[in-house]
Amino acid sequence: MLSDQKQKDSFRISIPSKGRLSEDCFDFMAASGLKIYKPNPRQYEASLPALPQLNVLLQRPTDILTSVRDGSVDFGITGYDVVAEHQGKEGELIILHEALGFGGCSLQLAVPESWSDVNTIADLKDFSRRLNHPLRIGTKYKNLVGEFFTQQKIPYSLVSSEGTLEIAPAIGYADMICDVVSSGLTLRDNRLKPLQDGKILESQSVLIANYHTLQQNPQALATARILIEYFEAYLVGKQKLALFANMRGDSPQAIADRIFSSTSIQGLQGPTISPVIVKDDSQNWFAVNIVVMKDQLYQAVSELRAIGGSGVIVLPVSYVFDEEPPRYRRLLDVLQNKNKNKTQTPPQEE
Ligand code: AMP
Repeated sequence: MLSDQKQKDSFRISIPSKGRLSEDCFDFMAASGLKIYKPNPRQYEASLPALPQLNVLLQRPTDILTSVRDGSVDFGITGYDVVAEHQGKEGELIILHEALGFGGCSLQLAVPESWSDVNTIADLKDFSRRLNHPLRIGTKYKNLVGEFFTQQKIPYSLVSSEGTLEIAPAIGYADMICDVVSSGLTLRDNRLKPLQDGKILESQSVLIANYHTLQQNPQALATARILIEYFEAYLVGKQKLALFANMRGDSPQAIADRIFSSTSIQGLQGPTISPVIVKDDSQNWFAVNIVVMKDQLYQAVSELRAIGGSGVIVLPVSYVFDEEPPRYRRLLDVLQNKNKNKTQTPPQEE
């Protein structure tokens, strides 16, 4: 098995097969420059014309995790909630990108609306003391929820369900639930309410890989780098805009000095300034090209105007390819045991 791993030069990536997460993943891959080609909608295999060494498999989110963990699949895109719950013993999985920007949800404790005096975990503790049995919690996240209730010292028992959890309290086979929530509508439709401080985990889609495959096979590592590059280039580009403006000035340096004296319009490295050839103007004109954060657009336009910029054109930035993506550097550190943290967590809300 090990020598097979070392020698193989084609790899597999699993992505979600059904529902919203699957659609969002297809869209994300396409937007990143890795459009998935799936000739037959009923087939569970697809290809990536831009990366022919990588075959695509479509699986359920939990199966993606299991396949990458046991090494039958090399890469996967699944929810961080699934990784946190099923990660298994230390070492087999590594998170290559912890924030792909889609599939956002949180693992949330929810109780029946009729429990009017239970709105926080402290209320739940009081309530559980008045019960004559341990709290029965319906969940698919036995490890995370078990850990949480043990830490909180609330007596509990876990009730699992393959189907819709939200109905469990109404039917009576659980007292409350802990499930992933995105808009919160399903909870409300089922007369459940989230506990105010009952968010156990924030999650979004993450890119995972089998740690041993990356350690043993340089071509797998090269493929990991390409995936990280595509995803980072797209995710970074998405936050930015390219601005073009014309400006009068004595020289490129004089224009640059004006730009450096303002705050938000410095560009990636600095501004690109090039001469504009004008027919009949005695003054020198220059084109200034800078990249700014999307949420600073108006400020940047105002500052460009304030230093004499005119005719500001704004274009989207499709990709920003860094010299070396920071997440690839981090991956190398983890593989060389300089960094022990294989499971970067997605950014958590304050
Ligand atoms: P919502 O009504 O938008 O809060 O969605 C809740 C329902 O969708 C629950 O039944 C969840 O199991 C499911 N769900 C929502 N977001 C996700 C996600 N990111 N990954 C998997 N399941 C999700």
